Amino acid sequence: MGDTSSTLRIVWIYPDLLSTYGDRGNALILQRRAELRGIRTEIVEVNSSDPVPTEGDVYVLGGGEDRPQILAAERLRADGGLARAARRGKAILAICAGYQIIGESYGDDAANPLPGVGILDIRSGRGDKRAVGEIVADVDPMLGIGRITGFENHQGRTEVGGNAFPLSRTVRGIGNGSGTEGAYSGRIIGSYLHGPALPRNPALADLLLQWAVGSDLAPLEPGWGEYLHKERLAAVQ
Ligand code: GLN
Repeated sequence: MGDTSSTLRIVWIYPDLLSTYGDRGNALILQRRAELRGIRTEIVEVNSSDPVPTEGDVYVLGGGEDRPQILAAERLRADGGLARAARRGKAILAICAGYQIIGESYGDDAANPLPGVGILDIRSGRGDKRAVGEIVADVDPMLGIGRITGFENHQGRTEVGGNAFPLSRTVRGIGNGSGTEGAYSGRIIGSYLHGPALPRNPALADLLLQWAVGSDLAPLEPGWGEYLHKERLAAVQ
């Protein structure tokens, strides 16, 4: 852990279990976009054998295959650190398997329901068919992000409960399975988007950073992130 309170702590949860399709890039891009604004950062990697610290500023979870996902959910529930961080209002981004397991329940590889961490009001089950491919979605206008893109590969389907909002409406792809993709509540965002999601969608990265920092961020000159965002939109629409 850093030794000054002015360091932004990006907590990368369970890279040993949850990290598919370059999801680590989400932590790296949060770091990069903070440092471009002169904010000192530290990435804290928390393996599944270690406790999840509650004094982080933004928490990132990636996707995973079915069995590592079950292990990750069991360990996160037993540890309790992520739930405590959520109760303290910390910014959290959870992708795919990470998204499913921060919910109330999710389906294992035989579609049995298993308990999640319970910090986002969603319930996931199994679809008939894997959802694989590019996804394009329009984020809830309340969040001011616009259109996002990513890559999805999951069997799960997700219902969003009354204490969360769908993150976006799908333009292309499957997402939650009912015309929406992802969910959010307070400062917690879950999404099926790999790619990784934040390098492909810099506005989403900046929203999380703004929540983590607690104030408006200095604008950045458009850079490769914005070019990548445009290029992927043009390529998949
Ligand atoms: N194992 C989960 C599913 O298939 C999540 C997959 C992932 O994280 N890519 O739904």
